Amino acid sequence: MPSQIIANNFRTNRLPHIWCPGCGHGILMHSIARAIEDLNLDKDNICIVSGIGCSSRASGYFDYNTIHTTHGRALTFATGVKLANPNLHVIVITGDGDATAIGGNHLIHSCRRNIDITTIVFNNNIYGMTGGQYSPTTPTDDKATTAPYGNIDKPFDICELSAAAGATFVARASAYHVNQMLSYTKKAIMHNGFSVVEAVSSCPTYYGRKNKKGSAVDLIKLIKENSIVTNDTNKAKETDKMPIGIFKDVTLPEYTNEYKKLVEKF
Ligand code: SF4
Ligand code: MG
Repeated sequence: MPSQIIANNFRTNRLPHIWCPGCGHGILMHSIARAIEDLNLDKDNICIVSGIGCSSRASGYFDYNTIHTTHGRALTFATGVKLANPNLHVIVITGDGDATAIGGNHLIHSCRRNIDITTIVFNNNIYGMTGGQYSPTTPTDDKATTAPYGNIDKPFDICELSAAAGATFVARASAYHVNQMLSYTKKAIMHNGFSVVEAVSSCPTYYGRKNKKGSAVDLIKLIKENSIVTNDTNKAKETDKMPIGIFKDVTLPEYTNEYKKLVEKF
């Protein structure tokens, strides 16, 4: 018997999901369903848009309006959906490669426009689906299929990038910090503007194995040990830990409202 949340929010005939045992993505997907359930949103008013990658498979499991689009382009489809029907809660599920490499351009411009879309970036620091290549968030010196001797690039901080580009709600949670994941996702969905939740995930199959991080549980424990729950990013920098918190929450003119005003004016 599926739990009430699974029965209410998922296409149970598509389950079980295809993610590897121990992958953090299932925890994050469940948190999004719980957030929608807690907010008591009408399922017909939700549209999940995803790109390509392990994380983006989530759109196939939710029992809402869903679109599984092309690599890096989820935000362009989502922008079209939102402009066509501004009443929808549009939620983009994407990964670190999808959102910050091939889709990096779309991410920064969606932030700049402040369009009312919630973007949840499942960040596992690697390309999982295509075989473990390093992504723009793979830490320096970490190994990947395409960096067998260690990555010499410096990683993006997705939260800092999004805040600097103009997103009006920016937060980070993880597959370990499930309470924060639930709470920030709810706030992000209800925020009127472009919101980004970086959801730190774990990929035991590629990132974990390439970097000899131990079991799937060890990988989740590492997220716990390497992070600090605080909204103060300066305080986190003093501890050299990754902050888990809400880093930006401001109200600014929202894109579809501005567009509507313009249409009415002329
Ligand atoms: Fe998860 Fe990695 Fe497996 Fe993809 S390859 S399903 S990210 S564990
Ligand atoms: Mg990834």
